[in-house]
Amino acid sequence: MANEACRHDWTIVDLQNGYLVTEGCTRCGRRASFFTLKDQPHLDTYMEGGHRWRFLASAQSTRFNLQCAKCGIKVELKNVIGLMLCTECAEDCDVLKLKDESEGGSTWIYVALCSDPMHENGVCVSDEEIRVLEEYFNGNIKSPGKRVRFAPCIRWKSVDVCQGDVIADVGMKEIY
Ligand SMILES: [Zn+2]
Ligand SMILES: [Zn+2]
Ligand SMILES: [Zn+2]
Ligand SMILES: [Zn+2]
Repeated sequence: MANEACRHDWTIVDLQNGYLVTEGCTRCGRRASFFTLKDQPHLDTYMEGGHRWRFLASAQSTRFNLQCAKCGIKVELKNVIGLMLCTECAEDCDVLKLKDESEGGSTWIYVALCSDPMHENGVCVSDEEIRVLEEYFNGNIKSPGKRVRFAPCIRWKSVDVCQGDVIADVGMKEIY
């Protein structure tokens, strides 16, 4: 049972390897992303509720949940459709501030991606999802002194400014 006092030992469960696909509306410029297990992205432009969606990009990605091996509590990362290592940012991108808030140069910044890159409804990856991601990955880092921070993609300047590499291997060698 869930125990408030548990020092959680998170493990990855419900792992799915798939693709993160981004589409854009050629009428209003809106962007949308989704996770799919299909390796053939849907390339045809289609109409939906007044939007004219066109394929923009796809990248290998993973989805998973985290469960505590000790108390069994499970956190569903239902808003997370990918994790991106932030490599190219504008100076004034909020995501970069995570780096400034933390000491030293050994902090790696990842963006947790949700399905609404423009956040018209203000909804993104939740604080709890960010917290368990940081707990899991910081608890498993092998390199001394290295730390990872995660930002919800609502903190980025824009879907076009903030770019990076989507993590495709949830063994996460790329992270450790
Ligand atoms: Zn626990
Ligand atoms: Zn549109
Ligand atoms: Zn988001
Ligand atoms: Zn950025």
